[in-house]
Amino acid sequence: MILLSDLARQFQSIKQEIFQQFELFIDSGKYIIGDYVSLLEKKIADKVGTSYAISVANGTDALILTLEAYGIGEGDEVITTPYTFFATAEAISRRGAKPVFVDVDPVTYNMDPFQVEALITPRTKAILPVHLFGQPADMDHINLLAQKYGLVVIEDACQAFGAKYKGRPVGSLGDAACFSFFPTKNLGTMGDGGIVVTSNPEIAEKIRKLRHHGSKVKYYHDDLGYNSRLDELHAMILLIALDRIDIWNDRRRILAERYRKELFHLPYLDLPEDSKDSFSVYHLFCIGSDQRDFITTMLQESGVQTGVYYPCPLHLQKAYDHLHYQKGDFPAAEKLSNRLFAIPMNPFLTESEQDEIISLLKNFRSIS
Ligand SMILES: *Cc1c(COP(=O)(O)O)cnc(C)c1O
Repeated sequence: MILLSDLARQFQSIKQEIFQQFELFIDSGKYIIGDYVSLLEKKIADKVGTSYAISVANGTDALILTLEAYGIGEGDEVITTPYTFFATAEAISRRGAKPVFVDVDPVTYNMDPFQVEALITPRTKAILPVHLFGQPADMDHINLLAQKYGLVVIEDACQAFGAKYKGRPVGSLGDAACFSFFPTKNLGTMGDGGIVVTSNPEIAEKIRKLRHHGSKVKYYHDDLGYNSRLDELHAMILLIALDRIDIWNDRRRILAERYRKELFHLPYLDLPEDSKDSFSVYHLFCIGSDQRDFITTMLQESGVQTGVYYPCPLHLQKAYDHLHYQKGDFPAAEKLSNRLFAIPMNPFLTESEQDEIISLLKNFRSIS
C-alpha cells in the first residue's frame, strides 16, 4: 500500500539520532519541563519569528489555552471556518464561546475574509483562521478587519509548520498561533504535542501558567489551570525532526508541483492552486472530483491509500445542532466536502510510487 503519510519511513530516517539522544534523555533524570522543552521552545520561536513559544500537550489544548489567555469565554463569539478539523471549533466551544462560521474561498479552501465583516457583532472577540492542508489563509485581509474592529487574531497553524505568507512564516501573522505535533502533521512526534507562539509577553506568561495548574511559583496557584505540558521525550524527538523540517517541506512542494504538472489537464480532476502569495507545505494534497467515490475506490483497489478531508463540514456536525445551521448555508465548504480527497503526500513518497499514482489517475475511465 502506498500511504498518505508514511510515518514508519519518516521515523526510521531519524531512528539512529533518536536512539543516541534517548541515552542522554534517560540519564538526564528530567522528564517534564526540562532542557529539551526549553530548547525546542527557543528554536521554534526563532524559526517562526515570535518572541515566545510555549509548548503544551496537543494542538487542541494550544487553542483552548490561547483563547483562555485572551479572556475569551461565555457570551463571546469567535469567527472561524466550517471547513477544518473539528478541534478548531471544539476549542472555541470548550471555552463556552460560540463559533460563528464563515464560508471558505473555493480556491484556497481557507476562510473567505470578504464574508467576515457581515458577521461581526458586539460580541465578536476574535477571528480564528486555519491554514488548511498547509496553505496559508489570506492574512492581510483578516488582519485589516481585526484592526478595524479591535479583534484578536489566532492562527490555527496545526497543519502548516514552515508555511509562509508573502515571505513571512505562518505563526507570526496574527496575535498568537497554535501548532500541533500529532504524528501526521508536517512537524510531528510519536505521540501528542502542541505549541503556542506569540510575541505578547502577558499572553505568553498566562499560557505558561495555565499549562501548569495556574502556577508560576511551585505549589502556589494564582488561577485554575490545566495539566497540559509537552513531555521532554517528545521535545527530544521534535528537536531532531525540526532539523529536517525544511528539507521535508521542500520535498512535499516538489511532489506537489509534479502532481500539478502531470494532472492539471485531466477534465475530471481539480488541482489545488499554488498562489503567488503563499508558500504551502502540503500537509495534505487534496484534489477534487465529481467522481470521487469511483476514483478513490479504484485507487484503493490498486494499493493507493486515499482519505476524505473532511466529509462533513462543521456547521452540519451533530455536535453543532444547537447552532441551527442548515445545509446550503456555506455552499463552498459543502461542495469541497463532497468533492475533495487526499492522495499520498509525504516526504518519503518515492518518484516511482508517485508515477504509479499519476498513471492510475490518468488512466481512470470516466463513467459519466
Ligand atoms: C490536528 C489539528 C488540530 C488539533 O491538534 P491535536 O494535536 O490533534 O489536538 C486543530 N486544528 C487543526 C486544523 C488540526 O489539523
